[in-house]
Amino acid sequence: MAKRISRSILEPIKRLYLNHPTVTPDTYEELNPLLKKIMEQSLTIQKENEQREAYRREFTSNVSHELKTPLTFISGFAEIMKSGGIAEDLVKDFSASIYEEAQRLIILVNDIIKLSELEGPMEHLEKVEVDLFEVAKEVVEHLAPLATAEKVDIKLMGTSTMIKGHQRVLYEMIHNLCDNAIKYNVPHGKVLLTLGTVNGEAQLCISDTGQGIAEEEQTRIFERFYRVDKSHSRAKSGTGLGLSIVKYGIAFHNARLSLQSVIGKGTTITIKFPRP
Ligand code: ADP
Repeated sequence: MAKRISRSILEPIKRLYLNHPTVTPDTYEELNPLLKKIMEQSLTIQKENEQREAYRREFTSNVSHELKTPLTFISGFAEIMKSGGIAEDLVKDFSASIYEEAQRLIILVNDIIKLSELEGPMEHLEKVEVDLFEVAKEVVEHLAPLATAEKVDIKLMGTSTMIKGHQRVLYEMIHNLCDNAIKYNVPHGKVLLTLGTVNGEAQLCISDTGQGIAEEEQTRIFERFYRVDKSHSRAKSGTGLGLSIVKYGIAFHNARLSLQSVIGKGTTITIKFPRP
């Protein structure tokens, strides 16, 4: 008897298809709020999946486009060289161009690898005590030849500043920001990195006296492959991925980034890290 009663009670529940539950009059009225919640959740998941798929498709199309341009150059130069009959000094020029385009490809592929690592689950990236000043010092030393070539003066000020973070990710972030501050600067311009503790928070400030970023571009520059001036950026050997890597690094460290920029005057980026 009890079995028959419980079976008849459970029957309408068993008939529910929870992937697409519909609130129907023959189900228990008491279940309606739960079914409504399940429906809302499955709609949210569906929307997120669609968005992820759209991102993936856009990313694949951007990557293909970015790979195609240097490969077309390399293929073109190599084809002319293969056909022979070109002057010795032209062979040297063409080889230099092929090398430059191959370098561009290497930088692009490296940036894609770094970005895909930061976009995925990051449990394997362990956070330890890191001195931001030491990381910044290493970046400045590494970028000194670029700064000299661009006639930009780069300086680091401040003191030892400890945070809990991932050394390599922090290096990438500071490197990309300083690289931009040098690349988008003007001859005889300046880049200043300041490190210290403000109101108990570790703070890194990178300011440049460069070309500045228009207000309407200031959020877009953190999108993947976004460049303010595409033709100019190619000459500046950018991949358009540098600030996306910074964005993921900021989220990974629970840090906050703010940007102040004035066209023709320069840009200041401030990052505040939580206390260790
Ligand atoms: P890229 O590899 O092109 O430098 P990023 O993602 O690092 O890509 O930067 C995106 C764009 O933001 C750059 O192409 C440039 O137009 C602009 N930008 C970034 N940093 C600066 C800066 N300090 N001053 C002026 N423009 C900048």
